[in-house]
Order: sequence, then structure tokens, then C-alpha cells
Amino acid sequence: MTDIGTIRIPEEVNDDENHFTCSVEGCERTFRRPGDFRRHVVRHVPPKFKCIADDCYKLFYRKDKLHEHLEQDHEDVVARVDES
Ligand SMILES: [Zn+2]
Ligand SMILES: [Zn+2]
Repeated sequence: MTDIGTIRIPEEVNDDENHFTCSVEGCERTFRRPGDFRRHVVRHVPPKFKCIADDCYKLFYRKDKLHEHLEQDHEDVVARVDES
């Protein structure tokens, strides 16, 4: 399996560059809508780890990458997770 690490899915699209490009090597397909892009991306590798924070669309294929992201961007969520 190819380790594609983190795929960042932008939440907003600006008018000049209204497309998302698949970050998987050799693919480079582009999509107009984040929903379409997201559906496409998960075909490469089934997502194993999805960011648990609300309003965050990041997908991770390695648990350590998810944790890294949570610690960097969602300190409040990390506190919640550690309790359980
Ligand atoms: Zn692709
Ligand atoms: Zn997140």
C-alpha cells in the first residue's frame, strides 16, 4: 500500500483557483467541489483515521499523523480524547 500521508482538503475555494487537485502521486485529477474531491481521494486508500474535530475535513492514513495534527490544531479535542 502506498503511504500517501496526509491529504489536506481545503474548506474554502477562492474564485481564481476554484478546484482541488488530488495530491496522490501520478493522479493529479482536479475537482470543482470539495465533496467530489473527498469522495475521489478515499478511493485511493480507504481512510483509516478521520479528524474527529468538528469543521475539520482532514483525513489521515497513519494514527501518529492524526495525533500530531490533533495536538497541533485541536488542543481542546485532545483534552477530550485523553479523558476517555
Ligand atoms: Zn486521485
Ligand atoms: Zn483536524
